[in-house]
Formats: sequence, structure tokens, C-alpha cells
Amino acid sequence: MTTVNTQCRLAARPAEMLTASNWTIVEEPKPIAAEGQFVVHVDYLSIDPAMRTWLNAGRSYVPPVEIGEVMRALGVGHVVESRHPGFAVGDDVSGIFGVQRFAVSDGTEVNKIDTALAPAPVYLSALGISGLTAYFGLLDVGRPEPGQTVLVSGAAGSVGSIVGQIARIKGCRAVGIAGGEEKRRWLVEEVGFDAAIDYKNADLRKELKTYAPDGVDVYFDNIGGATLEAALNRLAHGARIVLCGAVSQYNDTPRGPSNYMQLLVARASMTGFVIFDYAKRYPEGIAQLANWLNSGELQSHEQIEHGDVGAFPDTLLKLFRGENTGKLILALGE
Ligand code: NAP
Repeated sequence: MTTVNTQCRLAARPAEMLTASNWTIVEEPKPIAAEGQFVVHVDYLSIDPAMRTWLNAGRSYVPPVEIGEVMRALGVGHVVESRHPGFAVGDDVSGIFGVQRFAVSDGTEVNKIDTALAPAPVYLSALGISGLTAYFGLLDVGRPEPGQTVLVSGAAGSVGSIVGQIARIKGCRAVGIAGGEEKRRWLVEEVGFDAAIDYKNADLRKELKTYAPDGVDVYFDNIGGATLEAALNRLAHGARIVLCGAVSQYNDTPRGPSNYMQLLVARASMTGFVIFDYAKRYPEGIAQLANWLNSGELQSHEQIEHGDVGAFPDTLLKLFRGENTGKLILALGE
């Protein structure tokens, strides 16, 4: 096993779209565990749109990544050295390990994962933050009722593809919005959405009239911008908008919807939520998601890219080019 710890550190804050100059790849010796610590070999990195927001200085729900700091990232890996009573060499674990080959930890916010129950990447997907975000965001914030229409943007992505499946499990009509005919067909033919709209090649407002003739009861918003505006114009009376994210705005100066008064017209609500607030309820969410996976009602979709730590900057850009279907993961080669 290598004794070099390759890391991706933030070199400069991006103004808009990320470029190679925002990052620096450095090599350090593999860390050594002190008493009460262990060392994790990171096998898979979760590639998340929110990473872009963590690079901005200013008020957010987590502190920004500092210049020179190892890029923050969720990951799964295995313990290769331990001086911690709760973690043994060979344990498979998930946690915020950063974009690096090895991470040293005292166990804070690290969970053991059972790779006999599901392959390790699934713990970054349906059994990880994406699944939990879909589960609590849709059910707690969106509160869909059987027979209602649930619309989700970013539907062919990690969170969105799970939102649609949970909506179906709960007896709702699931309508997805995604970019491109291939994703549109995938959502309907493979994932089980009732309908999907290719926002890049169709008139979104017209299609929404067709697929949500009685209006949208729950809009799960991953994208913001023009997509949010189109959804606002189609709200059913008493609709709930789950403000999960706004990927279309992350590399831009964000702007709010010009037609937000549609909330008033529809007596609707729009609620921002952050999954970390549900940390105490993660076991409940994971148990339910695992049951659905076992019964086959839920599928976990991952797109796994292979590369070393230096492949991270390009892999992250795939999210903003729509080059992922399901959860984007970087498998770190040796
Ligand atoms: P994802 O949907 O797998 O990937 C991002 C997708 O966004 C891309 O595949 C692309 O799909 C779409 N996209 C990219 N640039 C776009 C643009 N300019 N306009 C329209 N669409 C664009 O990502 P994810 O991990 O599942 O995250 C989905 C959302 O959940 C994000 O907003 C993320 O920040 C949010 N999130 C929130 C929480 C929370 O606690 N609130 C937790 C986790 C994730 P198309 O090809 O279809 O365009």
C-alpha cells in the first residue's frame, strides 16, 4: 500500500464556474494515528453539487472551505490503522474524510457500514445523504398524500431519482424534470416515474400543463432558476415546495423567482431544509430505505467514475454539465 497521501486542496475561491486553477493537488506522507485515532483509506468519494457552495465565503449552513484546506467531501473507506477502541483495522466506514487518499479520524461523525448488506457506494447513495435527503425532504417537508402529483427537478440525479421512487411508493404521481431524451426515457422506463420532461428540448410550461393537469401538489426543487419559475406557475391549491437546492444557480449570482407571488395565489408554502437537522432521525430513515431496497421497491443508482485524487476537479464539473445519471461517485484507484 502506498505511503503517500495525495490530497486536493482549495487554491483560490471561484468567482463563477470552477476551473483547474481553483485547486492544487499535493502529496504528504500518510498520516499516523495518535492514541484515540484511526486512519482510513478512502475508497469512494461522494461528488456533490453542494461542494460548489462550500467554496463561497459568506453565510451558509456550514462554514466555507478555507483556502489551502483539504476539500471537504463525504466518503467511504476502510480502516488501515487504529489506536481507537471502537474502530478496528478492516472496518468499513463512512464519514467526512475529504478529497484525499487517507484521512485520520477520532471517530466523530464516522459510521461503520455493513458491506454485506449493500455495496459500499450505496452508502453514499440510497443509504447515504442522498437517500436521507429524498426521504425526509419529501415526506417531512413535502408531506405528499396518495393520489397527489409530486414534481421533482434534477430528477435523473441522485436525490431526484430517489424522490420520484418514494413518491410512487407513497401512492403519488411522480413527474420528473431532467435534461435530455436519454434521461427522460430512463426515468419513465427504468426508474418508474409516471412522466418525465426533457427541459432542454421541450416547452417546460406546456409539458407541465400536460403532465400535471390539476396542478403540482409537491414540488421538490433541486435546481431553482427558470425551472422553479415554471413550477410556481403550475402549483395546486395548498402546494408545498421543498427547497432542497438550486444547482442552476451555484456557479452564478443567484436570483430569486420573479413570480413568487404565485405562492400567494396558490396558498402555497416554500420551505428550505438542510438534511443535517435530521441527524437524530437518520437511523429511522436508513432502516426504511434499506427495507425498500431489500423489497425491490427502491433502486439505488450510482455512476462510478474511476481515477485518483487528481481526477476530482474534472469529476465535480460533470454535475454542472449534467453528465451524471444517479449518484456521482469517484472511486479512488491505488
Ligand atoms: P444530481 O442531481 O445528481 O446532479 C446535479 C444535476 O443538476 C445534474 O445531473 C444536472 O441534471 C442538473 N444541472 C446541473 N446544472 C444545471 C443547470 N444549470 N440547470 C439545470 N439543471 C442543472 O445532484 P444531487 O447530489 O442529487 O443533488 C441534487 C440537489 O440536492 C442539489 O441542489 C443539492 O445541492 C441538493 N442537496 C440538498 C441537501 C439539503 O440538505 N438541502 C442535501 C443533499 C443535496 P440535468 O442533466 O437533468 O440538467
